[in-house]
Amino acid sequence: MEQDHLIAMLNRLKLTAIRDQLDSLVDEAARRELTIREALSLFCEREIGRKDERRIEMSIGLARLPFVRDLDGFDFAAQPSIDKKQIREIAAGRFANAEAVLLLGPPGVGKTHLAAAIGRQAILAGYTVLFVSAPTLVAQLAKAHSEGRLEDRLTHFGKPRLLIVDELGYLPFEPSAAHLFFQLVSRRYERGSMLITSNRSIGEWGTVFGDAVVATAILDRLLHHSHVLTIRGDSYRLREKRRTGLLKAPLIAQNVPVPA
Ligand code: ADP
Ligand code: MG
Repeated sequence: MEQDHLIAMLNRLKLTAIRDQLDSLVDEAARRELTIREALSLFCEREIGRKDERRIEMSIGLARLPFVRDLDGFDFAAQPSIDKKQIREIAAGRFANAEAVLLLGPPGVGKTHLAAAIGRQAILAGYTVLFVSAPTLVAQLAKAHSEGRLEDRLTHFGKPRLLIVDELGYLPFEPSAAHLFFQLVSRRYERGSMLITSNRSIGEWGTVFGDAVVATAILDRLLHHSHVLTIRGDSYRLREKRRTGLLKAPLIAQNVPVPA
């Protein structure tokens, strides 16, 4: 049958959106009295729309973002130390230039939120993204190294256009780990972007890496083409709690001993 033949061809060409919506698309084209050229254009738009959706879904899965966050959900007014425009610019596609973004600040100020939101934007813009916490990254590199598979892992973490490394500095590195991290940074240098979040200022990275020489070499590469954003202020979580009356005073004040 003619219909079966058409379905078979659409299958072979993997035009699944056209296949699934064939009747309604044909009806729509007739109803709107489209020319053949216009109808073809409509069909292609549907197919591309579906393929883009699938690609985005798949990329978001592969990126392993820790939670679903977007920039619209970020309360910039609560965080005056961040320039909304700069974040939007970064999210809007700095990744083509293999730049590094360092998001620094104390816990709870929205570093991971912004990292996940920027990652999401990068995926929507068509880039490959991978999110990993610094301890996991280092553990995986160290394990691979001890098993003689370091090259594989460096390739794995070297490939995505944007690699997000979250929570650098919460745990200090072993000296060998610092060197593995250096190898990864060198591998990605001027090839892919990195977004790193850390609760430590750059001056403290020597301590984080446990080796000032390696830390300098890492920073040398990272800072070459980079944006360093330092977020100040209170934890957003605690702020929300205080606002709703669950916490009475800033955390520090609670530790002040009551005078005898
Ligand atoms: P950090 O990584 O800096 O420790 P997170 O990004 O994990 O902080 O933020 C803690 C929680 O507070 C998350 O659920 C995040 O979505 C939320 N949050 C933090 N800052 C903001 C903000 N300015 N607007 C909206 N939500 C925020
Ligand atoms: Mg975090």
